[in-house]
Amino acid sequence: MKILLNKIDLNEALFGVSNLGFVPTMGSLHEGHISLIKYSKKICKKTIVSIFVNPTQFNNKTDYKKYPRNKEKDLSILKKLKVDFVFLPNKNDIYNFKQKIKIAKKDQILCAKYRKGHFEGVIDIMSRFTKMINPKMIFMGEKDFQQLYLVRNYLKKKFSSKIISCKTIRDNHNLALSSRNSLLKDNELKTARLISKNLNNFRKILNKKKNIEKLIHLKKKEIDSFKNVKVEYLEIRNKYNLKKSTNIKNSKIFIAYYIRNIRLIDNF
Ligand code: AMP
Repeated sequence: MKILLNKIDLNEALFGVSNLGFVPTMGSLHEGHISLIKYSKKICKKTIVSIFVNPTQFNNKTDYKKYPRNKEKDLSILKKLKVDFVFLPNKNDIYNFKQKIKIAKKDQILCAKYRKGHFEGVIDIMSRFTKMINPKMIFMGEKDFQQLYLVRNYLKKKFSSKIISCKTIRDNHNLALSSRNSLLKDNELKTARLISKNLNNFRKILNKKKNIEKLIHLKKKEIDSFKNVKVEYLEIRNKYNLKKSTNIKNSKIFIAYYIRNIRLIDNF
């Protein structure tokens, strides 16, 4: 496993490499990330994983500071997985030219509405990485569904790299794995698991119901009443265009909520 610390290392290591799979991450690796890496290793000849906590996608400085970081543990996981390259760039290597990203008004929904500047930061970094690395495929998780949607739509206009979407990996209690879960105390973790189970069941009953808008409104209220929980949004949207939907078919339930000051997102 080659560790690449800057653009020079990167160019040297990737010279002549084709059929490259790229897995971008912010580290604190868990089984969700690992599933992306395994998929890349399966269908690409070489795999590169980046670990970079991208400052420009945090709309809140404390959130950026307290984001979990576990470099040594991450590197040992990647070594065991026999990843070919790990890219650990620093800010100056990445942000060495100006680029303005704008999110269309129709896309300023869900997290784009509540985390101002977040997806501009995500798209910015993803387009810089894609330009530098030029992978054949980029592996991204459905856990961050809106991110996958926006990044795919942006990159396909500029690059030939193909985005491969990967299923959300959950724990035994149906909670989507997330680096942020490590910030939860035991009772908060229980609450997060309860919310996941609740919404998973909710999705099943919606198949047979008609007045979905009313039910969503009530479900939002119910989850909001859990201890220490504040729901930011709970919405049903079409999974192909993210337009509001009143029908569960071809749609997903999207949620963002806080437990104490920890923000979690998921989709069902
Ligand atoms: P992050 O390190 O949180 O920026 O995530 C890096 C990549 O891993 C993104 O494409 C995420 O969507 C993906 N990912 C995060 N959690 C999961 C999960 N539980 N299952 C599948 N993919 C995930």
